[in-house]
Amino acid sequence: ATPTSIMVGTGRAAELGVLFRKGDALQRLDGARLVAFDKTGTLTEGRPQLLTTATDGMDAAQALRLAASAEQGSEHPVARALEQAATDLVTPSQVEAIAGHGLRATVEGRALLIGNARLMAREGVALGPLEAAHDEVAQAGQTPVLMAADGRIAAVFAVADRVKPGARAAVQALHARGLTVAMITGDTAATAEAIAAELGIDEVQAEVLPEGKLDAVKALRARFGPVAFVGDGINDAPALAEADVGIAIGTGTDVAIESADVVLISGEPGGVTEAINVSTAVLRNIR
Ligand code: ADP
Ligand code: MG
Repeated sequence: ATPTSIMVGTGRAAELGVLFRKGDALQRLDGARLVAFDKTGTLTEGRPQLLTTATDGMDAAQALRLAASAEQGSEHPVARALEQAATDLVTPSQVEAIAGHGLRATVEGRALLIGNARLMAREGVALGPLEAAHDEVAQAGQTPVLMAADGRIAAVFAVADRVKPGARAAVQALHARGLTVAMITGDTAATAEAIAAELGIDEVQAEVLPEGKLDAVKALRARFGPVAFVGDGINDAPALAEADVGIAIGTGTDVAIESADVVLISGEPGGVTEAINVSTAVLRNIR
C-alpha cells in the first residue's frame, strides 16, 4: 500500500471510530483468517448481575453476605455482582486471590473458598448436592460461582452478563466475509459454549488460565492461519501482542489498548468488521 492510501484509509477508519495505532496493521488485518474474541467485557457488557443462589446447609442471604464480604477487594466483575446484591458486609480478615480460579478468605472466622469448579477440585472440595445446580447454571450460559465454607460446599451463585447488542451481527458479518470466529475465555466450558451457540461462534477455548490466552492464539493460528484477537482486559494484553492483529476495546483497560494495533473506540464488536472493510478497501485500491 502507498503511504497516501494508508493515510486515507486510517483517516476513514477514524471517522468510524476505529483507530489504527500502527500503519501496517491495515495490511495485516486483510490477511487474517480467524477473529478470536475475549468473552467478558468484549462480547458481553462486563457488568454481570446475580440472578439466583442455591445453598446447602446455609441460608441464602447469609451465604451471599459472606461471599460479598470476601470479594470486596477483588477486581473481578463477579465480585461487583455479589457486592451489589448483598447487604451488611463485613471486612474479611484475610484474602488471597487465586488467578483464574477465584479467592480464599476468612470472614467472621469461617474459611471461605469462592470461585469456579476448578478451584474446588484443586482444594479437594466435592460439589455434592450442589453439582446439579452448578451444571444447570453453566448450561444456561450463566457463570456459576461456588462457595465452600470450612472445607464443605455451601453455595452456588448464578451470575450473568448481558451479551452486547451488536455481538451476534458482528459474528454474522465476519462469517459473510469467510472468516472463522472464535472465543477465548477463562469462564467455565459449558457457560462459554452456551454463549458461543447463541452468537453463532465456531470455535471455543474455555477455562483458559490468564497466562494461557497467548498460547490459545498460537494454537488457533496453527489451525486456521493469521489471527486477529479482540480483547479488553489486563490479562488479554499478551494475546493482543501475540496476535497477527491485536484489537482492543476502547472501553477496556489501558494495558490492553497499549498492547493493541487497532482500537475500537465505541467498544462495539461490530467495529471489527468496519476495520476489516477499510483494510480490504485500501488494499484493493493499490493492488
Ligand atoms: P475471565 O476474565 O474470563 O472471567 P479469569 O481468569 O479472570 O477469566 O477467571 C476465570 C474464572 O475464575 C472466572 O470465570 C470465574 O469463574 C473464576 N474467578 C476468577 N476470579 C474470581 C473471583 N474473584 N470470584 C469468583 N470467581 C472468580
Ligand atoms: Mg474481558
